[in-house]
Formats: sequence, C-alpha cells, structure tokens
Amino acid sequence: MTELLIALREMLGEKGVLEGEAVRSRQSSYWHRQPMQAQAILRPANSLELSACLRLCHAAGQAVIPLGGNTGLAEATASTAEHMMLSLERMQRIEAVDEVGRTMTVEAGAILQTVQERAAEAGLLFPVDLGARGSCTIGGMLATNAGGFSVMRYGMMRERVLGLEAVLADGTVISSLAGYLKNNTGYDLKQLFVGSEGTLGVISRAVLRLEELPTARTTAMIAVRSFDQMTALLKHLDRTANGALCAFEVMWNEFFLLNTGAHSEHSSPFAEAWPFYVLVEWQGSDEADLRQRFEQALGAAFEEDLLADAVIAQSLNEREALWAIREATEPEERYFGKTQGFDVSLAIRDMDAFVGRLQSDLAELDAHARLLVFGHLADGNLHLTVGMHEPWPSHEQVEQVVYGCVQAFAGAVSAEHGIGLEKKAWLPISRQPAELDLMRLLKRTLDPRGILNPGKIFDL
Ligand SMILES: Cc1cc2nc3c(=O)[nH]c(=O)nc-3n(C[C@H](O)[C@H](O)[C@H](O)COP(=O)(O)OP(=O)(O)OC[C@H]3O[C@@H](n4cnc5c(N)ncnc54)[C@H](O)[C@@H]3O)c2cc1C
Repeated sequence: MTELLIALREMLGEKGVLEGEAVRSRQSSYWHRQPMQAQAILRPANSLELSACLRLCHAAGQAVIPLGGNTGLAEATASTAEHMMLSLERMQRIEAVDEVGRTMTVEAGAILQTVQERAAEAGLLFPVDLGARGSCTIGGMLATNAGGFSVMRYGMMRERVLGLEAVLADGTVISSLAGYLKNNTGYDLKQLFVGSEGTLGVISRAVLRLEELPTARTTAMIAVRSFDQMTALLKHLDRTANGALCAFEVMWNEFFLLNTGAHSEHSSPFAEAWPFYVLVEWQGSDEADLRQRFEQALGAAFEEDLLADAVIAQSLNEREALWAIREATEPEERYFGKTQGFDVSLAIRDMDAFVGRLQSDLAELDAHARLLVFGHLADGNLHLTVGMHEPWPSHEQVEQVVYGCVQAFAGAVSAEHGIGLEKKAWLPISRQPAELDLMRLLKRTLDPRGILNPGKIFDL
C-alpha cells in the first residue's frame, strides 16, 4: 500500500477507503459493464474529510475523479488503475428545508429522488427531473448542469442552485451557502463549478431552489402535420397556458412508430400515422380549471389548424402510458444491431432543415441506417439515435456525419449531457479558440497540479 493510501486510510477510517474487489465489483460507467478501474474509492463522510482527502492527494500529485451516481452519459467518470475515485456516497444528508424561503440545503451525494420526495413532503417541488432520478446525485447533476423534462419552465441545474460549497483541488473550501435569489456581491463563483464536470472543484453541499408543488396536471399526445405547425403550436400553447406549460416533448415519426410498433409494448393512441407527435403537459393547482383551459387551448389550436389530432389522458395510468412512449428505449435496443446516441442543441428554426440534411448525409454513409429524432423542442435540444444493422460504419464515421451537420448549423455538440471524454474531440466545433483558452486558464488557476478529473472536457 502506498504512503498516500496509508495516510488516507488513517484519516478516513475503514469505511472511508475501498480497494480491490470492492472497486472492481462496480460498473465502470452507465454504458460500459467492465469493472471499475482505480487504486481506491475514497468515501469521505463530510466536507471536512473531503477537504482533508484533497489536501493529501494534492500534496502527492494524485489524480482523483469525483463520483456521484455514475449515471452520466459522456464518459466523464472514466478512470484507469492509477486514479482514485472520490465518491460522495456517504454525504447524502438533507440538512434543512426552508418552507418559507422555498430552499433545501443538501450534501452533494443526496439522490435526486430523495430530494424530490423530501420537497413533496413539505408541499414543495424540486423541478429538475430525469430518468436516472433513483441513482443520480445533486453533485453530479450540478457538475453536468443536468436539464431534463421541464427546463422550459424551471430551467436547468444552473437555475436551481442558490448556494454552493465546493472544495478546490488543494483542499480549500469555498462556501457560499446563504441561498438568496438575489446576491450581486461580486462574481457568482458557484456558477464556475456548475457544468465543470468535476474538473474545477468537488461540490460538497448545495442550497437548492424549490417551487410550490403543482397539485394538478393535464397531459396530451398531439399529432401534427409539419414542423412549422409544431412550432406554431408551441407558441400557441405557451401563450394560452399562463405559465402552466411544463413539457413540450417532440417526436419525429420514425421514433414514434418504433416506440409504438411491433418491437414495443406501448401502442399509439392514434388510428393513423402522422409526421410529428408532441407530448404536452400543463401543471397547476386547480384540476378542473386547468383541464378546462387546456381543452379550450387545444380546441382553438384545432380551429387554427395547428394540430391534426390529439388525445388527452383521462387518468394517471393513461398519462403514464403516454409518457412511456416518449421514454421507452427498449424498442430500439430490440430492433437495431447497434445504436449510437447524440444530444445536440441548435436554433429551433433550423431543426427541420438539420434533420433533413442529417438523414441524407447518413444515407450516403449507410443506406440502411435509420435516424430517430426526439427531444425538448422549446429548449432547442434534440436527442438523436442512429440505428444500424450489420455491417455498420465505424463509431467515428457516424460522429463525423452527425457533428459535421451540427457544425453546419452552428449547433452545440452537447445540450445537457456534458463533454467528458465522449465529446472532447468535438468541443472545438461549438467553442471559439479564445473561449477554450479561457477555460484552460481557469483550470490551471484552480487546479494547478491538474489532479481533478484530468483529461476530461479538454486537454491542457
Ligand atoms: C436513464 C438516464 C436518463 C438521463 N436523462 C437525462 C436528462 O433528461 N437530462 C440530463 O441532463 N441528463 C440526463 N442523464 C444524464 C445525467 O447527466 C446524469 O444522470 C446526472 O446528471 C449525473 O449525476 P451522477 O450523480 O450520476 O454523476 P456521475 O455520473 O457520477 O458524474 C458525472 C460528472 O460529474 C462529476 N461529479 C459527480 N459528482 C460530483 C461532485 N460532487 N462534485 C464535482 N463533480 C462531480 C463527475 O466527475 C463527472 O464528471 C440521464 C442519465 C440516465 C442514465
């Protein structure tokens, strides 16, 4: 055992350091089932221990990788046998809920679902929601600036954090946990750590901004004939919703047909097929009023030729069945030999042309490849799945085609999943050289020995 590990074990105790099989028994990442590689998993029990860990690692020049629930999708926790993982799994406390100020103070290892449930017990809502809610942590969500389903109404993690405590590479604790909505006392340092993917500091605690818990919701699946009809429908439903529009999830027909077809256990609520589908949800506090206004808005949309057909969920089960169509991933796994997923941003007005060009560029590469498109239209965020059968083109060839199109439309190679290792080579498409230089300057300033998640986002 190295001197550093002996010192860490003395400081953190038996429970605080895992080695050998206890490391290898974990999966390396969400996508890869290989055993986790690392000298050890360090598990501090509080901010003081976390700070002491980093101080020791910094002195020894030891590379560490901050670890939350390991549900990130951009290979940002990828490690080698030389690294040490720094897990926040023993720092899950919900420290306080302020019902008047509508805030919650948590340790960064707190699981999203626990935070949501604790907020709901107080009649409040933590509104960032995503499929990994049972495992992902507040620290990991902040470090990736996670988004999810209701960004158009509530924003991403960046908008949901009022206070933050982070520990720098050398163990210095930067604590700003006052949690005011308005706080223009100099630079907003907490935002430096949001979206930094564990490369600038380890987030140890946070003050989260909560909202009043909506007690009513109404959901519909809407079929539309054209992309222009879909964007006009978005404006109409936002205008008429009076702040209640929480989700506007779009699906191109190939995605919808696969998720409601022979390879799926979900079925379409429509008798015919349409070019586009939208899952719309309004949330509020008065069930009858919300429902009436929603039906009126849909009726007006129908009269103004903004939709072709619509089905409103009549029960919780029906609501869940509509959402299941949007969230299902098994049909693509069953149908295709291989899939490659992308998460990109671009101007809403360019999306139709972007998808058209991407379809034709992909067809040139592989005539049998299929493009499935869905996403959060109002956020300018599309998720793309390229589905292939053997013989398929290489991973890099498909990336080349997709990111070539993203570049042609001045889009972003990552909308909400981050860069990690997965998109590092493509980052210059979406960022100017001067921006990348400033990012490197910040990294060198905050982490001069380069021990925090080295090699992620960009190389120094
Ligand atoms: C089924 C599924 C659905 C998803 N849906 C969405 C979605 O709709 N929208 C969306 O935005 N994302 C989505 N994601 C990805 C999402 O980014 C992650 O689930 C989540 O944000 C990462 O949290 P985590 O605790 O698992 O972090 P990890 O995966 O452990 O880590 C992610 C990154 O954060 C760093 N990190 C972790 N903890 C800390 C900390 N305390 N301090 C500093 N750095 C830290 C890590 O080093 C790494 O760089 C989804 C993932 C899955 C598996």
